[in-house]
Amino acid sequence: MIKARSIIPIVFATTRAKGSLPAPRPPEGRVSDEATSQSTRLANNANQVAGYSGVPVTGGSSGVHVGPTLASGIVPERYFQGEPVSDSLFIADAMQRPLRDLRISVTDRCNLRCSYCMPREVFDQEYVFLPRAEMLSFEEVERLAKLFIRLGVQKIRLTGGEPLLRRSIEHLIEKLARLQSTAGKPMEIALTTNAVLLSNKAKSLKDAGLSRISVSLDGLSEETFHRMSDSDVSVKVVLDGIAAAQRVGFAPLKVNMVLKRGVNDHEIMPMADHFRNSGIILRFIEYMDVGSSNGWRMDDVITAKEIFQLINQHHPLQAVEPGYLGEVAERWQYADGSGEIGLIASVTQAFCDECTRARLSTDGKLYTCLFATDGADLRKPLRLGADDQILGRLIADYWQQRNDRYSQLRNTATASTRQKIEMSYIGG
Ligand code: SAM
Repeated sequence: MIKARSIIPIVFATTRAKGSLPAPRPPEGRVSDEATSQSTRLANNANQVAGYSGVPVTGGSSGVHVGPTLASGIVPERYFQGEPVSDSLFIADAMQRPLRDLRISVTDRCNLRCSYCMPREVFDQEYVFLPRAEMLSFEEVERLAKLFIRLGVQKIRLTGGEPLLRRSIEHLIEKLARLQSTAGKPMEIALTTNAVLLSNKAKSLKDAGLSRISVSLDGLSEETFHRMSDSDVSVKVVLDGIAAAQRVGFAPLKVNMVLKRGVNDHEIMPMADHFRNSGIILRFIEYMDVGSSNGWRMDDVITAKEIFQLINQHHPLQAVEPGYLGEVAERWQYADGSGEIGLIASVTQAFCDECTRARLSTDGKLYTCLFATDGADLRKPLRLGADDQILGRLIADYWQQRNDRYSQLRNTATASTRQKIEMSYIGG
């Protein structure tokens, strides 16, 4: 994969010679005719992306107008699902995956120390979190978000760390909620939280324009919750936060439960029973080898299949059609109509083929995979005064070179040896 380092010089070169961007590099290796024509189309497309402020771009390719025909030729038709293909600048990566979702980590700090995410041995008193000056400001996040939207992003999720720890997060939500997709629809702004601070914040988040909330909760008994979160916070605080969010109208609320064998798997049925008939969708997530600090072992993973079998024995389940292409959770409903659950088989049935997600770290690096080792620094050119044209080109280039599919290639060796960035920093 071409690394961020090899892209940045293009940025600085183009900063000096605005309007004369080189064409993006063709993919490495032997290139078939089909790949050549694909890469020509990508080049034309990227060139148009580079010129999307309206400035005609020369050098490299012809600056072909990226209208519906060309756009849908790059991003496979199946991604449009009958939507009108607007005159926007869709881009696809090396595996033809469009850019549709953006996760933004707004802080690398958290008020819990979940053993599978931010183990206390690593994230202790000595750990140095990002100083404020290194974090993107709300204005910087908004500016980058607009550029991602121009390239096809339709949903933005704020995460972390714990996003509710970021002071005045509502102000960022207000800014983002005002944005529209290229098709003119309001931008969907979602938030993932451990809900420790949600009781007091639910109303202001709703008023700021937040569309959806997902709450993480790994057990109902105090003992299990303490073991998973390595904190003194009571489960009641989280449940109160969930209730507050429901009261102000967040629906359907989702609750995510990560399962670790021998630690909280005995809570699958209590959690399922608790959230049946509540209107809340409980989603079970396979424990993943994110970051390099959680000591992941395949033996610790409770598979989606095991979870399905257990719940189905007690309450028969029926499949539900995915809501959209690339939905990561397999959806099931209780046959008796008492609600819906989701199974996220991120380890046993990797969904890399349809992953349309980019991640922006707290300090402004663009990552194209949760398991990445490196990202493209957007903050540096942004703070050096790069204009939208250049920043947009940097994002487009990086996405178009993307070929990550870590979860499909995962094996015990990659899980333990590869240095991956931590989830709290990149955003879960
Ligand atoms: N602090 C927020 C929260 O707790 O929801 C947002 C950040 S947290 C990193 C986002 C989600 O990632 C949580 O649902 C958490 O359970 C999940 N997560 C973290 N580490 C994980 C791992 N190793 N495997 C699976 N899910 C993980």
